[in-house]
Amino acid sequence: MELKEFIEQLPKRAVRAKKDGTYTVTPGMRQGVLPAGQLAAIAGVVEEYGLKGVRISTGQRLVVDGVPGEVLPEVVEKIGPVGDVFRNKVQACQGVSGCNLGQRDSMGAAAALEEFLKDRKFGIKLKAGASGCPMCCAESMIRDVGLIGRKNGWTVSFGGNGGRRARKGDILAVDVSREEAFAVIGKALDYYAANARNKERTARFVERVGIDAVKAAIR
Ligand code: SF4
Repeated sequence: MELKEFIEQLPKRAVRAKKDGTYTVTPGMRQGVLPAGQLAAIAGVVEEYGLKGVRISTGQRLVVDGVPGEVLPEVVEKIGPVGDVFRNKVQACQGVSGCNLGQRDSMGAAAALEEFLKDRKFGIKLKAGASGCPMCCAESMIRDVGLIGRKNGWTVSFGGNGGRRARKGDILAVDVSREEAFAVIGKALDYYAANARNKERTARFVERVGIDAVKAAIR
């Protein structure tokens, strides 16, 4: 198989070509967790192929830099899962599993939300965040879909966006169970998928149709 063909069949954001002729490889992660075996495999390829080490990207991904093309397929195979494990990304803070302020299981909710979203295709790559408390460290309010844990349940936000035209999401539900939150998210996304323009992000969609239209669709 040609190298170009090999790269094209990998998951998105698995490998990037650099100007100096080398490649970067991005190990696949879920909620920022790397199991010990995968960590050992990454350390192994860095040592075996004399690479510089690993780097944390601005998007908080782990990146292996400077991989020569001739060993790229071997490196990818040895590292294990690479690139986006799921089409729609859900970032999470530690929540009750590791933060003293945590009020909800944000890691578990994020993993479940990834599964819930895995077969849904949109014109955009959907970004979601699950935070274990209103401090919102997983940036839930500036994601297409956000979960924010509180003492009495989850708050659901929709239509947030970071970047150049930042927008704070609108609240669709408060103090709901995880199942109720997912039902709200599913209905909001169904409405968005049926009515959004090509590649229109949820933030721009909500600005165009109005949040009341989204709220009416989830009733
Ligand atoms: S959002 Fe809350 S629970 Fe999550 S890391 Fe921040 S302070 Fe901790």
